[in-house]
Amino acid sequence: MHSEYNYIVIGGGSGGVATARRASEYGARVLLIESSRLGGTCVNVGCVPKKIMWTASDIIHNLEHAEGYGLTIDAWRFDWGRLKQARDAYVKNLNSVYARLLDNSAVDVIHGFARFVDAKCVEVDGKEYRADHITVSTGGYPTIPDIPGAELGISSDGFFELETRPERVAIVGSGYIAVEIACMFNALGSEVTMLLRKEHLLRPFDASMRESLTAHMLEQGINIIPNTQISSVRKLNDGCLELVCSNHETILHVDALLWAIGRSSATEKLKLEAAGVEVKPNGTVPVDAFQNTNVSGIYAIGDITGKAQLTPVAVAAGRKLAARLFDKQSDSKLDYSDIPTVVFSHPPIATIGMTEDEAREIHGDAVKVYQTRFTPMYYAFATEKPKTTMKLICLGREEKVIGLHMIGMHVDEMLQGFAVAIRMGATKQDFDRTVAIHPTSSEELVTLR
Ligand code: FAD
Ligand code: NDP
Repeated sequence: MHSEYNYIVIGGGSGGVATARRASEYGARVLLIESSRLGGTCVNVGCVPKKIMWTASDIIHNLEHAEGYGLTIDAWRFDWGRLKQARDAYVKNLNSVYARLLDNSAVDVIHGFARFVDAKCVEVDGKEYRADHITVSTGGYPTIPDIPGAELGISSDGFFELETRPERVAIVGSGYIAVEIACMFNALGSEVTMLLRKEHLLRPFDASMRESLTAHMLEQGINIIPNTQISSVRKLNDGCLELVCSNHETILHVDALLWAIGRSSATEKLKLEAAGVEVKPNGTVPVDAFQNTNVSGIYAIGDITGKAQLTPVAVAAGRKLAARLFDKQSDSKLDYSDIPTVVFSHPPIATIGMTEDEAREIHGDAVKVYQTRFTPMYYAFATEKPKTTMKLICLGREEKVIGLHMIGMHVDEMLQGFAVAIRMGATKQDFDRTVAIHPTSSEELVTLR
């Protein structure tokens, strides 16, 4: 192992692995330092195991509709422990895949916790490594509130450690993680109560989407308590948890409590101050459009920057940065506008661009909204007929599409292609000119009136 490199990357998650491999492919001598498992949040305690749990719950939802299609399933039983074993093995294999990919790309990897010594030097387990370019991609970890008994709860990390399914679960929070895990627990058979600090879940999303999701979740039997915060938690003699809400009137008894109130940045122990790198009071590292921190030669990518905390964003920012630093692509930077994203709820939400409220606030009457609400043909023989909602936000006389929001079955897989069109500047007329694919739900988007 050398001690002098062209590029040191701290954190082997989505962003770190992407930038390290790309830089090495451009010919840089690269060192990647990872304190835990390769692949970071996404692979180990995020997107990957989450999508496996989501798929399990999706299959269970679909089983409810089998009868209508002439398929009688006399008995089925969901085995949480068996799925966890398979999921853990899948993730473990991905850890090895990441190690192999880094090895194939000739990136040196050290397992240990990195700390800055100065702007060109980091230390791991007493050994120092130097480089002219250092990228911080240390991501974050779940935030736990500072209230009595908070440690009795788990976070999304703990969700993936559960060996058995808790019968009654309380979930505190209203963002992606709270909503996704609430829907998964519910589908897999737990009784779920969500506690929202404010009035609505998914507040930054288009109002029609969150209202529709709230209605779906209530119909599925998820209990949603708005405007509530927990003031204390204690364990009772029978092992269950007692949650006292701040109004002191609501007391809940549950088998598991899950905090999903956002994520904190992993900057505290990194000694960024030794390199003079600015850190915001909330722990994120501010960067310019090129991922530069305030210190020349030190960059930050991914969740640590506090911008669009999504895996493909960390990956893309990391690759663009590597191209700028080591492939003479001096203008290479990620465009953070119009990032498509999906909330893996049941049903999922898929969204890109401005919400209706944002568009109207900025552009007023120049905004035209097209919306449709329909029952997918899939539910033809079902007693429950959940509706899909699609909304197109258009701007000006040419009706340029500046936002697309969908909730319903399969919208998670519909958005990517439409996102390409929207980023290319598609107008409503371009949508209309495209011949529909029938019979699908996505055809509704090109036949909106
Ligand atoms: P991370 O992937 O968090 O990697 C940071 C790495 O740095 C970690 O491996 C950590 O161990 C290491 N590290 C920290 N400090 C040090 C140090 N001092 N020295 C050495 N190593 C260090 N995004 C999506 O796009 N789609 C999804 O469906 C999705 N689902 C998610 C579900 C959950 C439950 C969670 C929590 C997140 C989800 N995300 C999803 C978000 C996504 O996981 C993150 O945006 C992404 O992982 C960020 O990548 P990153 O490289 O910035 O950080
Ligand atoms: P989010 O930022 O999505 O949501 C957290 C929400 O919890 C806040 O918006 C806030 O909503 C509420 N909250 C904050 N503090 C408290 C508190 N003290 N008590 C009660 N509620 C509180 O964070 P998540 O942890 O859900 O997810 C982190 C990030 O990971 C996401 O932003 C997303 O970028 C990424 N992610 C992406 C996924 C995907 O792509 N499918 C899936 C999971 C995560 P309010 O102000 O309304 O109360």
